[in-house]
Amino acid sequence: MEDPYLRERATDIRDLGRRILSHLQEKTPSVTEELTEPVIIVGEELTASMLGEFPLDKVKGLVSVMGSSSSHVAILARAMGIPTVMGAVDLPYSKLDKVDMIVDGYSGQIFTYPSDAIIDSYQQIVDEERLLESEYEQLKDLPCETLDGQRIGLYVNTGLLADINRSLDRGAEGVGLYRTEVPFMIRDRFPTEAEQEQIYRQQLQGFAPAPVTIRTLDVGGDKALPYFPIKEENPFLGWRGIRVTLDHLEIFMAQIRAMIKASAGLHNLKIMLPMISNVAEVEEAQSLIRRAYAEVKEEGYDVIMPKVGVMIEVPAAVYQVKELAGMVDFMSVGSNDLTQYLLAVDRNNSRVAGLYHTFHPAVLRALNDIVEQTKGEGIKLSVCGEMAGDPLGAILIMAMGYDTLSMSSTSLPKVKAVLRKLTMEQAEDMLAQVMSLAHADAVKQTLMKLVREAGVERLIRPSKTAALQ
Ligand code: PEP
Ligand code: MG
Repeated sequence: MEDPYLRERATDIRDLGRRILSHLQEKTPSVTEELTEPVIIVGEELTASMLGEFPLDKVKGLVSVMGSSSSHVAILARAMGIPTVMGAVDLPYSKLDKVDMIVDGYSGQIFTYPSDAIIDSYQQIVDEERLLESEYEQLKDLPCETLDGQRIGLYVNTGLLADINRSLDRGAEGVGLYRTEVPFMIRDRFPTEAEQEQIYRQQLQGFAPAPVTIRTLDVGGDKALPYFPIKEENPFLGWRGIRVTLDHLEIFMAQIRAMIKASAGLHNLKIMLPMISNVAEVEEAQSLIRRAYAEVKEEGYDVIMPKVGVMIEVPAAVYQVKELAGMVDFMSVGSNDLTQYLLAVDRNNSRVAGLYHTFHPAVLRALNDIVEQTKGEGIKLSVCGEMAGDPLGAILIMAMGYDTLSMSSTSLPKVKAVLRKLTMEQAEDMLAQVMSLAHADAVKQTLMKLVREAGVERLIRPSKTAALQ
């Protein structure tokens, strides 16, 4: 049909069809709302927007046949501390209704009908995790400082309202990445400027006076809005992030105006632009941000011009990092996308998940080059991809000279515990040793050996999981 709205109603019909089919196959209908018992959600293709349909306090695990550990649904699950296995390709997922199951998010294994012995082993892992959690609790108000007194900022990545308390409880020093697409995904239409203002204000107020970095809408790729479908052959190379919002100025302007209004009297807003691949995008976005700021100020709000930064997540931006540094106030490396684009490995495709490696020497060199290229530019650098929340990645990023790391609140205490047990010299030495290696696996193994020697392996993952593999 011509009309895009009506055309999209095809999705509703398809959904209805699926439900009828499910009845014909005598499957129980969707139970998302009546869940009273703890459950593991198993599906062919779990998506970030699906998570919004479940009462998350009941969800104890997720298993998806499609996708990989760097898919957005996996990132959200990690942020919520839900063990998840992605890319379970041979799983007979439709035959697992009501089956007892263990999901090991550390190793990516699933055990159906587990024996008592396996249940006991995993209970010990759970107990060990709880013990570590209580150790971490004591670090909450301590700075992230190496044994020789070097400070590194630990920020959080947020998306949901619930992230605020979770992050403050864990000692976050600010928000390094607020993914605005999350509140957009759990609605059935675009939130209005006034609604957005309210949503953003909760984040800004929750963390004030600490800085909150709000990223403009990064839809496309594997993040679809149900009411704004984008159908493309190559979604990760297509209409995504800043490309969408600069083509839809009404979306961009409403969002920026809402962010700036929300910061009134708080002055802790930073705006970050995703998927930047050339300087023209930054120039255009900056001029729109200046215009929005002037309008909001004119309307009488007590606001200051926010700091503006870009994500470095496309290889082109790595090679133009010096020019970009001269234009913006801060830069944050999105290592999830940078890995996908440098290695040409779709982060959502389970078939090539084995090739997706943040410890690939090319990724490490790019990260290191960003620091080298921007020395003397007076720019603040951070990493906000999942690598920053992996203690091994965090050690390397700190040693390279980044100012802050931004990660899920689940990862933060662990990263802090590990970095506080090392000297900067030790971290630099580890970096020097792995930078000369040619294989990603060698980098990972060497790092594991080095953390074992440094006596911090216990903090990284429960000894039982290592023993089970
Ligand atoms: C990244 O790409 O590393 C990042 C932080 O952004 P996202 O995961 O939302 O694409
Ligand atoms: Mg990204």
